[in-house]
Amino acid sequence: EPATSKPPLRVVLCAPRGFCAGVVRAIETVERALRIYGTPVYVRHEIVHNKFVVDSLKAKGVVFINELAEAPPGPHPVVFSAHGVARSVPEEAGRRNLRTIDATCPLVTKVHREALAHFKRGRRIVLIGHAGHPEVVGTMGQLPQGAVTLVSSIEEVERLQREDGQPIAYVTQTTLSVDDTREIVAALRARFPDIHVPPNEDICYATTNRQEAVKAAARLVEAAIVVGAANSSNSQRLREVAEREGCVAQLVADERAVDWAALANVRSVAVTAGASAPETLVERIVEALKERYEVTLETITTTSESMAFPLPRDVRDPV
Ligand code: SF4
Repeated sequence: EPATSKPPLRVVLCAPRGFCAGVVRAIETVERALRIYGTPVYVRHEIVHNKFVVDSLKAKGVVFINELAEAPPGPHPVVFSAHGVARSVPEEAGRRNLRTIDATCPLVTKVHREALAHFKRGRRIVLIGHAGHPEVVGTMGQLPQGAVTLVSSIEEVERLQREDGQPIAYVTQTTLSVDDTREIVAALRARFPDIHVPPNEDICYATTNRQEAVKAAARLVEAAIVVGAANSSNSQRLREVAEREGCVAQLVADERAVDWAALANVRSVAVTAGASAPETLVERIVEALKERYEVTLETITTTSESMAFPLPRDVRDPV
């Protein structure tokens, strides 16, 4: 088939996209733990929400577990995922004499600290986030049951109650929609004008930057492909942002999951990736597009990133 028979397609790559500093750190932590302690290394929960990453680490001898009970005591460590864990988890690990390495992203830990500080000041704490996400479970689990109330919508803000005179504060999940959160925060401030707000945004730099980039790209094109896992919060938000800008947007694990029918009459597409999706997967998407279209590739860059976090102490020395 001659190449000229392919329809033209303008592909706009979003920058920044893909791995954030917290994900790089978490993966490097596991890689180093493998070198220091040998196999197996246990990881509680998916280290980051990406099957490709998880499968690559499994192939190297990582055993993923849901609960600490699945890890035997001994020299082989259990790594906590980037999303963070409830306090009960390291407590149980201590009781069972497990060796643990905490790969919780420092920006999640920062939210944990804020919540704790509010609690110590007797404040009622509202967490803006999505029920069931491991980060939300971890943040709520920093404090006794009932200390933190989860809200995910303006309707839930309307239903909030507090005792007379009780101070109130909010914190958020790090991977929310910047736009949705602004509306929920406005509702909270309208309802509770004295509410304590986070000194710096809890939504992390990577989430914010990836949403800005996809928003700018989405204004130029008809469709968007977001590479990321269905259980990845920040990836889902990227798809929503593109959709809100009028794009036909799909969230795909890899090139095999692309809905080609949805792209049938499309002449321009934005491509981005969630914070836990490796660049290899983006390259594979671009290759798959090139097989079907005469692709013109460009990149839209809304900001540049230089964030990097030091590794957890247990794996910091070079090996
Ligand atoms: Fe940390 Fe943000 Fe990456 Fe989550 S998305 S791991 S909070 S940098």
